Amino acid sequence: MGGDTNEDTMLNEKLTGPIDFDPAALRAKYEEERDKRIRPEGKAQFVGASGRFEHFSSDPWSETVVARPALDDHSSVIIAGGGFGGLLMGARLNAAGVTDIRIIEIGGDFGGTWYWNRYPGAMCDIEAHIYMPLLEELGYAPKHRYAYADELLEISQRIGKEYGLYDKVLFQTSITGAKWNEDDARWLVETDRGDAVTADHFVVACGRQSLPKLPNLPGVDEFEGHIFHSSRWDYAYTGGDSAGNMTGLADKRVGVVGTGATALQIVPAVAQDAKELLVFQRTPSTVGVRGQQETGPDWADMTKPGWQRERRENFQSHVQFGSVSGFVRPEKDLVADGWTAAFEILAEPESVVAERLGRAPTAEEMADLSVINDYRAMNEIRARVEDTVKDPATAEALKPWYQWWCKRPGWHDDYLESFNRENVTLVDTHGQGVERFTRTGVVVGGTEYELDCLVMATGFESGISFTHLTGFELEGRDVKLSDHWANGVRTLHGMSTDRFPNLFFIGGNPQTASSVNAVHLLDEQAQYVAHIIGEATTRGLRTVEAHHDAIDAWVDNIVTSPKNQAMFEFYMQCTPGYYNAEGTAKTAADLFTGGRYPGGPLAYYALLRDWEAEGSLDGYSLDAEPS
Ligand code: NDP
Repeated sequence: MGGDTNEDTMLNEKLTGPIDFDPAALRAKYEEERDKRIRPEGKAQFVGASGRFEHFSSDPWSETVVARPALDDHSSVIIAGGGFGGLLMGARLNAAGVTDIRIIEIGGDFGGTWYWNRYPGAMCDIEAHIYMPLLEELGYAPKHRYAYADELLEISQRIGKEYGLYDKVLFQTSITGAKWNEDDARWLVETDRGDAVTADHFVVACGRQSLPKLPNLPGVDEFEGHIFHSSRWDYAYTGGDSAGNMTGLADKRVGVVGTGATALQIVPAVAQDAKELLVFQRTPSTVGVRGQQETGPDWADMTKPGWQRERRENFQSHVQFGSVSGFVRPEKDLVADGWTAAFEILAEPESVVAERLGRAPTAEEMADLSVINDYRAMNEIRARVEDTVKDPATAEALKPWYQWWCKRPGWHDDYLESFNRENVTLVDTHGQGVERFTRTGVVVGGTEYELDCLVMATGFESGISFTHLTGFELEGRDVKLSDHWANGVRTLHGMSTDRFPNLFFIGGNPQTASSVNAVHLLDEQAQYVAHIIGEATTRGLRTVEAHHDAIDAWVDNIVTSPKNQAMFEFYMQCTPGYYNAEGTAKTAADLFTGGRYPGGPLAYYALLRDWEAEGSLDGYSLDAEPS
């Protein structure tokens, strides 16, 4: 994934193969488009769910709060979060023989992302067979190549039942604080329901993008129309359900603000049912072919033990740049979808390039080549827009002008086609976004657009502190986590830190690896944490605490990594977005995923497994129970 390119190398067609476009012109166009989107206020252009938007953080799916007494009991493990992270943690602990657990979840059921996001058309664009958790353990075959939200919620419930987690969960409960008690070697976890529960170990699995965010625009209090966030879809207003049939929109002029991965799914559904739909676009997404289809029981060979891990690793090896020691990209592409096809273009194997060049390419040449290949991939994306969207001006406005990986790649079979409908209008804001609300609508480029209803598909807070994300402070050995990490996150393996014994974090935290298949990462992490807690239980360890020397080594490897520096430079020449802190990141640590384990996901997973197999809990200080 190169950033700057050496024009001489770029035009060496022995390296790149024939080029039928003008790389310099594309580069200039990308810079021009980026520059018009950079805002001095950076991330401060957004606000969270407060004031007029207070209801964006409420729970439309479980409006009645179920009464229960406050608890003060003790468990071996408390898990914060009942999404896929918390569920996997529960299941993997179960497999490690630790069943005395308590889960605390703010929502009214399991599911996390898939509990909240029930907008029409909601689905996951990672193949269901590698995304859905524990398919092998449950013997469950997904219904579609890309699972719809209701099936993802259903599998969450199935895991909850299968592993007995419904008996252990406190729903509709927010943690208000967690404190380590040195004398008892216990975590005390307090909640907004008056609970004061304790545990030997505490695992935080609170996701990474769960707090709705909105552009901080003037006039918001004036708007008299209906307004809601994509993650709190108001079916009472629209009618219908996630499959559509939104009869309440038949006489409505609806606006969708935002054109990210969520909007790509919402727009085709609303287009079917609304009298009129206006899509307010700031930056177009890439829209690749998804190829949705039903999947029979033999879609994947689910009889082979270890099939899901093998399929996940096969996918991962096809969607990463460069080679990873120990992982040669297998010839067979098991998932063979838009993701892997894109990487066929983007990440040519060195052996293929060497054949063209007649010698081994240098690292610099490979970086330059990746830029040329990115232009090729994006030319295909832009050609698809032109081939699909009939109105030439609309097609032109829907073309994305940045490197493919600058924004989360999007996929849909019907999104572009929606703009051929008479009731759908693209309002291109030329990178400036919606300017303000009025009593009856919104303003773009000085023109007011009247609307009955506004759907804010404007994403979720990101690049925020861990304690802001989770909504509570953690107090370890005489230090708060927010102070402990004030000068930078410090972890061992991305999952624990010093001065916070018996505490683990799983999810898209910094200093782990970043995989497009987030559930793969969660599962590997859950297995690592379950291994440690299982060992601690078997060996009768009072505390397990990451040692500061081991943390220093882990952090140093990440902070000084040339790969992370290259990643940072790549993102800083990108169009702004949450990946690069709206263009204001100062170091790799400020990127959405923070500094990462430089070897990439497969090497990270292998490292965790080797570490577990070695068996000594190396890097942790272990304090045995007094006998
Ligand atoms: P995003 O943050 O990705 O998108 C927000 C959108 O709002 C962007 O198009 C942004 O434009 C736009 N926007 C922000 N401010 C304004 C403004 N003032 N006027 C007009 N538009 C504005 O949020 P999503 O909800 O789409 O996605 C959230 C996360 O969920 C992402 O990580 C995404 O990948 C993930 N997701 C994953 C799915 C999956 O299948 N796995 C499905 C759906 C979501 P700009 O680009 O210019 O900032």
